[in-house]
Amino acid sequence: MSILVTKKEGKKLPVVPIRDGLVFPKTEAPLIFGRPKTVKAFKAALKKNKQLILVLQKDGKINEPRTGDLYTTGIIISIERFASLEHGELQVLVRGLSKVRLIQYEAEEPYLVAQYEELVEQDMIDDEIKAMVLYLNNELKKAISLGKNVDFISLMNVFSDLSPRDFSYQVAAVLDLKASTKQELLEENNMKKRLKKEVDYLAKEIKVLEIERKITSKTQKQFEKGVRENVLREKMRTIEKELGGTKENKEFVEYRKKIKQAKMPNEVEKKAIKELERLVKMSQYNPEASYLRTYLDWLTELPWSVFSPNDIDVKQADKILNEDHYGLKKIKERILEYLAVMKLRKGQKKLKAKNEKEKTSKKQKEILPPTILCFVGPPGVGKTSLGRSIARALKRKFVKISLGGIRDEAELRGHRRTYVGALPGRIIQGIKQAETSNPVFMLDEIDKLGRDFRGDPSAALLEALDPEQNHSFSDHYLEVNYDLSKAMFITTANVLETIPPALLDRLEVIHFPGYTGDEKFAIAKQFLMKKQLGAHGLERYKVKISDGTIELIINRYTREAGVRELERQIATIFRKVARTIAEKEDKGKKIKKPKSLTIIKNDAIKYLGPYKYTSYLAEKHDEVGMATGLAWTQAGGDILFIEVSIMPGKGRLSLTGHLGNVMKESCQAALSYVRSRWQLFDLNQKFYEKIDLHIHVPEGAVPKDGPSAGVAIATALISALTKQYAKKSVAMTGEVTLRGRVLEVGGVKEKVIAAHRAGIKTVILPKNNKKDLVELPKKTLKDLKFVFAEHMDEVVKIALHQTQKPKKSKSSR
Ligand code: ADP
Repeated sequence: MSILVTKKEGKKLPVVPIRDGLVFPKTEAPLIFGRPKTVKAFKAALKKNKQLILVLQKDGKINEPRTGDLYTTGIIISIERFASLEHGELQVLVRGLSKVRLIQYEAEEPYLVAQYEELVEQDMIDDEIKAMVLYLNNELKKAISLGKNVDFISLMNVFSDLSPRDFSYQVAAVLDLKASTKQELLEENNMKKRLKKEVDYLAKEIKVLEIERKITSKTQKQFEKGVRENVLREKMRTIEKELGGTKENKEFVEYRKKIKQAKMPNEVEKKAIKELERLVKMSQYNPEASYLRTYLDWLTELPWSVFSPNDIDVKQADKILNEDHYGLKKIKERILEYLAVMKLRKGQKKLKAKNEKEKTSKKQKEILPPTILCFVGPPGVGKTSLGRSIARALKRKFVKISLGGIRDEAELRGHRRTYVGALPGRIIQGIKQAETSNPVFMLDEIDKLGRDFRGDPSAALLEALDPEQNHSFSDHYLEVNYDLSKAMFITTANVLETIPPALLDRLEVIHFPGYTGDEKFAIAKQFLMKKQLGAHGLERYKVKISDGTIELIINRYTREAGVRELERQIATIFRKVARTIAEKEDKGKKIKKPKSLTIIKNDAIKYLGPYKYTSYLAEKHDEVGMATGLAWTQAGGDILFIEVSIMPGKGRLSLTGHLGNVMKESCQAALSYVRSRWQLFDLNQKFYEKIDLHIHVPEGAVPKDGPSAGVAIATALISALTKQYAKKSVAMTGEVTLRGRVLEVGGVKEKVIAAHRAGIKTVILPKNNKKDLVELPKKTLKDLKFVFAEHMDEVVKIALHQTQKPKKSKSSR
């Protein structure tokens, strides 16, 4: 316990405000004073007893503190030594004598003078105090060993033999505390409490010191490690150089070799070497190094000068095309012509090279065919497989990239290398995959190419396809041009309408109209079955599908223009057969290799489930208010039924069945035509005023559009109004004008094939479409009867049963 005794002596001394550097009793400190008032106070003190009072400012930033800005507890110091510095400053070694409390200021000018009373602590020293002193002593040593900065005089003082009180002041002086906290320690008149506070402060300081030490040692270690590694690496480089080649050098040598082997064009090689040199200079740890390697790999792995031999044997090609594909006669012929021209052009080029000066260029230009074929037709008609066959015939590699849904030019042309994870576009990827620079390159689904804000992919495609430009196709990633001119591009599409016109302009379109039932049968028998037997490992079991079953699959399990679904169904059957056989073999029942195992209709139904499609026409009868139209879709042709019903009403026309605008207009036009011909059809002139008409096209969920159903709609309307029965076996297509003229339409080949497939007997076509029948299979032409109409009147005669004209009914006339 401490007892505070105040000595009131009525003494006064000059007072000097200090911003920091509080001195405690029995401690010494060198201080510098500069403020004029302070210097005056010191000079006065030097003349007297060399003593004055130091008092801390509450706010160190105040330059000319008033008495109110100062704490009231201060310390009397004696001036031990002093020296005048420049600018009138004084350096003073002061020694703390005793704590004082200021009672009253007596003067403020020329310096502060105040009356004070001395504060004397009288201590009871107990074990706790002793223990704290010991503890502090040790901790202080620890702090110093951790790097605490203590000036030499203080160090000597604190470890000399001191009373606990003096020790506590010494510790207070050396602790690293802010001024106000030191002031608190000075004002603390209870020694035990002061010691306790010091224990806390010192502990905090040690913790900070420890953390600092850790951080420094870590940085130090890292720094040392870095230096060490660098030195070692440098040494290694020198050693390896002596022994012949560093790791980097090896990489350099390897890439150099690859670059040479790739036989790139000159400027590409230059670029590759430049990038390689950048790579070698780069630190191993630079993330860019790996990007550079990928880039160099791409450059060196592209088949810059790898070509399949370029000799075209047209006869051989003919043989191969026939080997791989049934039918498609006209198409194959067209392809062979194309190959022949290619061959001749090649010869001509050689000739031209020989006789540079000869004036052949004009003629040649005329001969140059548009280089790019475009196979257009529904899915599964053999576009891709024909492309593959062409490659086989030319002994070239085949690659296919699908353009469906590509909206971003960068997908075709690559991303710039600044993008993370950038790669070349699909065209260059295709070339890499082909491993040669003159593959047969199929660009699938060019009609599905999109475009949006990321650029127009068709521009990149045009560049790739244009023979004028494609010898230097630029890919953003490669940054160097690639010569695509030796590749043979074939494009495919389901429809022509959505192909960008600029692109379509470059294409030589070849139509694949779809197969008739007989053709499908032949394809299944001669090609698909063989292919699927092989694919399912069934060749040695001699599995067969009976002819009737194949027909059943075609008619009841598929409804398509191509043969893809048919192939899938055959695959399903073979898969199930393979499983049955394999299971039997598993059980050890050595399966007697049957001479042949034939799949009959019942097996097919067992494997494929109930029929998926019923016959179009079987359940249909000749009806009133119904006509059979022909439609064209992306999946080929199809037949569609138009239904018309009449109700008493007020002349309204309703249209249902998901009809597009053009088709709706067609309905209006057909009605207008019928109204204008009321006399011919024996109708009342105002027949429409008392009835409502409803035109519906079933399979209401499927959107339908186009003008070509006009004829069928008009026929259904007339049938409904005149109660003449429409023949179910007659199908028709054609646009109809208000005056009943029948206009030419598109997609006739597909439509006729669909009509044949559906079992239609007579097809009514616009007269101007007669020319489209040329390319149809003979069998189709033979089986169907064609009527070419110029006017609706002719259509009605054929499509409706004139004889079954019902009795007049007043409500509808
Ligand atoms: P597309 O590319 O037109 O959608 P694919 O070329 O993929 O159609 O043909 C689908 C399947 O039908 C392939 O297995 C193909 O071999 C086969 N195929 C199509 N047409 C014929 C044909 N005329 N002769 C033999 N197989 C054919």
